Order: sequence, then structure tokens, then C-alpha cells
Amino acid sequence: ILQLAGPLQFLGFLYRDLRQSLVDLDSLFTILSMKRLIRDGEVNLPNNGKGIDLKACNLHFGYTASRRVLHGVSFNVQPGESLAIVGPSGSGKSTIVKLLLRLYDPDSGSLFFDLQDLRTLTQASLRSVVAVVPQDTALFNDTIFNNIAYSRASARTEEVIQAAKQARIHDAVVRMPDGYNTMVGERGLKISGGEKQRVAIARAFLKAPRLLICDEATSALDSPTEAAILNSLKELATGRTCIFVAHRLSTIMHCDHILVMAAGEVVEEGTHRDLLDRKGIYSSMWELQESEKPETVL
Ligand code: ATP
Repeated sequence: ILQLAGPLQFLGFLYRDLRQSLVDLDSLFTILSMKRLIRDGEVNLPNNGKGIDLKACNLHFGYTASRRVLHGVSFNVQPGESLAIVGPSGSGKSTIVKLLLRLYDPDSGSLFFDLQDLRTLTQASLRSVVAVVPQDTALFNDTIFNNIAYSRASARTEEVIQAAKQARIHDAVVRMPDGYNTMVGERGLKISGGEKQRVAIARAFLKAPRLLICDEATSALDSPTEAAILNSLKELATGRTCIFVAHRLSTIMHCDHILVMAAGEVVEEGTHRDLLDRKGIYSSMWELQESEKPETVL
């Protein structure tokens, strides 16, 4: 039996390796069978510090051939203006964001940045002009400095600190045990949800994007933290073209233009005022959310 122990253990390892390889192979086939592989374009979109002129023309898209999730979505955002995308869960808001980041190409229709079809742009230039503040910012198991600098590896120390100040996280960082060298993330110091979003905002300040996308950036925060983060986002948004995806309408009511999505289509659009006057879906959503607000205690 003892003589068999070694070979049996070896067979065990071999079996585990083989099983893992099959899983990897499986994932590879899944990736290969995804119906769209993104081909890099050749045009370099410069980061000239100006807001992007954004046009979406008649976007149709489905993750699988059998189910369309966008049915002819069109919108325009002028340089430096803000667009909010609202609508019920599953209506296609995040899918539009994924197309803007060119994680997928539309089945038909096109997106244009400064009148250039996204498919003609290099991925590198696309990444350098767009920044995303997501709902839940991923922190790496690294120093807080590197976590901020992640959006622009070539940034100088002063630039990283400047971005942290703009995002109003500098004071919290200098209070951490090792200042900017404090390890955060999985095995490091746990930081609050609001601070995490400030890291995302600092990353975006450092990148100085031409298009800023906030995808439910404050929806996981409590109200006072949300208000503070919204203030920082407002500063970050100044002079840039912005897309805000949000459930809470009070956070996007000041946007220049609002798209209301339902089941993959734009069902209403206009300013907050226009949409309230229209007394349609947006205005019902607004009334519902207002009525759910906690009563003010006098
Ligand atoms: P939420 O407010 O819940 O984030 P949403 O409006 O952003 O919703 P999307 O995430 O764009 O909606 O989803 C639109 C539709 O596409 C939904 O029916 C969803 O189930 C489907 N969908 C989203 N991602 C995928 C995916 N990776 N593969 C297949 N279907 C997907």
C-alpha cells in the first residue's frame, strides 16, 4: 500500500490538472464562440482635453443571436454636456455603456466619437479618452498610491497626489498608517464605500478623460455620503461629456438631457422639467421615488 501512495498521489495531481485544463479549455471555447470579436481600429482619437461629441445612431444589439436587448437606440450628446440614462432594471442601460466602451460592437447602427465610428478607433486611444466610475470600484491588493495611479501608470507622484486632493481623499490617505504607502484591498486596509468611490474619482481626475461614464456610481452609498460624492463628481464632470446611469432620479435631475429606457428602447427623452410636464413614465417614476423618501422629522 505504501508503495502505491506516491503513484496514487501523482495520479490525483494529474487528475486535478487535467480537470482544470478542461475547465480552461471550456472557457476558451466560450470566449471563442462569442459571436463578436473586437477588431482594433486604426484612428487615434487625441485626448485634447475637450468634451467628446457623442452620437449613437439606431443601435441594435443582442448578447446572443436569439435575443435582442437594444432595439434602435439613438441619442446625441454635445461636447461638455451631460446625458442621464434611466429606466427599469434590464431595460438596457448598462448595455449601452458596454457598447460605448466597445466591449461589444452593435449588430447594426453605430456610435460616433467626434464623428468617428468607434470601430475605426484604436482601443488604446478609446481607453485613454474614456473614464468610468462604476458602482463598485475594484481595489487591488497594493498601496493606495498605486491604486490611484492605476489609471495612468506614467503619472508623476505630484500628479497622483493632486488627483487625490481633487477627489477629496488626500486627507484620509495621510491619516492612514503608512500614508500613500498603505496597503489596501483584499489583504490590506479595508476602506469605506465612499472612500472607494473617491479612489475611482481620483483615478478619473488623473486620467482627465474627454468622456466620463458614471454607472450607478453612488447607488450603494448612504444619503450623506452620496451627496458628498455627487459634489466631487460634479467637479470632475465640468467641461467633459458625461453619461450618468442611475436609478435614483434625484441624482440626475440636473443633467442636460435625460433618456428614459424601457425594454431596450428610448421611450421618453428631454430635460427633467420637460419629462415632468409630459406626465409619462419618468414623471410616475419621479413621484414614486419622492413618495418613498423618508419623512423629514421636525
Ligand atoms: P440594471 O438596472 O439592472 O443594471 P440595465 O437596464 O442596465 O439593468 P442591462 O444590464 O443592459 O440592463 O441588460 C439588458 C438585458 O440584457 C437584460 O435582459 C439582461 O438580462 C441582458 N444581459 C445583460 N448582460 C448580459 C450578458 N452578458 N449576456 C446575456 N444577456 C445579458
